[in-house]
Amino acid sequence: MRKAVLVSLDAFFDADFRFLREDGGLTRMLREGSFCRQVKTVFPALTYPAHVTLITGCDPADSRVGQNQPFQPGVPSGSRVWNWERKHIAVPTLFDAVRAAGGRNCSVLWPVCCKNPAADWCFPEVHPLPGENVVLKTLRFGSPLFVLDSERRFGSLRQGIAEPGLSNYASAITCRAIRRKKPDLTAVHLIDLDEMRHHHGVFSPEAREAVSRNEDRLNRIRQALEETPGMEDALLIAVSDHGQSDISVTVNLTDRLKQLGLSSDFGVQSNGESAYFFALREGADAGRAMGVLSEHLEECGILRLYSREDLDRMHAVPEPAFACEAADQVVFDDCLDQNKREKATHGFGPGHKAENCLFAVWGRGVRRGYEMPSMPMRDVAPTIAGLMGISLPSARGTDHSRELLLS
Ligand SMILES: [Zn+2]
Repeated sequence: MRKAVLVSLDAFFDADFRFLREDGGLTRMLREGSFCRQVKTVFPALTYPAHVTLITGCDPADSRVGQNQPFQPGVPSGSRVWNWERKHIAVPTLFDAVRAAGGRNCSVLWPVCCKNPAADWCFPEVHPLPGENVVLKTLRFGSPLFVLDSERRFGSLRQGIAEPGLSNYASAITCRAIRRKKPDLTAVHLIDLDEMRHHHGVFSPEAREAVSRNEDRLNRIRQALEETPGMEDALLIAVSDHGQSDISVTVNLTDRLKQLGLSSDFGVQSNGESAYFFALREGADAGRAMGVLSEHLEECGILRLYSREDLDRMHAVPEPAFACEAADQVVFDDCLDQNKREKATHGFGPGHKAENCLFAVWGRGVRRGYEMPSMPMRDVAPTIAGLMGISLPSARGTDHSRELLLS
């Protein structure tokens, strides 16, 4: 098995290529390795579904992770649980494939991978709910010794989960794991850019600075690989999950359903720039509800409705009765208790201007400067498995590894 380090640059998309620096880590990967700048994200374009597809090769229809959170009608937004744990994924992951091949895994803030039996070292992506203790929860959801050692060495790099401290911290513990543990698969999730975009806007100076910081982090990870005996041959892989677009109008769809007399039949879950509608009772008529909504598209901030058949074609999870896409500048809210005031977000459907994500791979034997054609996100995991020489038969995507390696 060939070792690999998988780095997720959350919210990086094709419009960001123009911001790359000549000496940046990603620029060097593109020059010296192979890449795709049109990896089509999943529906909805959310962090958890996309990160699950990136490590399973399955769309949400099969992975069964179609949202960051399960549907929790009536629960205030700050008290909702997330799909934090590995048990939420219905199919095998790259971590399982590495373990089956006798290898060892390290995951740092990789979504939906808490309490992962296939992780040898896990720093969990989880946050405390009201009344919970952050330290105890982090220890319980991750690998306690790895978490404690990371905190002791690098805890001063971060202030809670604020960025850019958290991504600097994640990058530091990843470099140390590479140098000391030499895992077969290391996966790290860098949230910095996503956070900056949400708070400051898609192409804000803060977002551009975050792109630059990610290039520095990739440089440091590559340096750790090059300097560590036994890791020189590892592959460095960079991926992303979705772009973002600017928003200025918040529409509360729970409110709108009430006004339209649909709230006893359907509950809504906001995906940001799209929303799911769930039947609340047997016999709730989705066709009728879609008909009512289609008469009020503009006041509901809806660009288009997706029927259940549309959702099946989009490989979405099976639970929602139907869904909708937000109009330009609109973000959906399903909860009356919050006022997030974000400047940009995501969660959109296919064809959106921010749907093109990144896949880049660098390492010995990888074609230099080769740009792959567009591919669905489900192709990423089987391609990584192919490059590592391990087997992931449950993946639904295509393995492109032979196209990327010099014969
Ligand atoms: Zn994300």
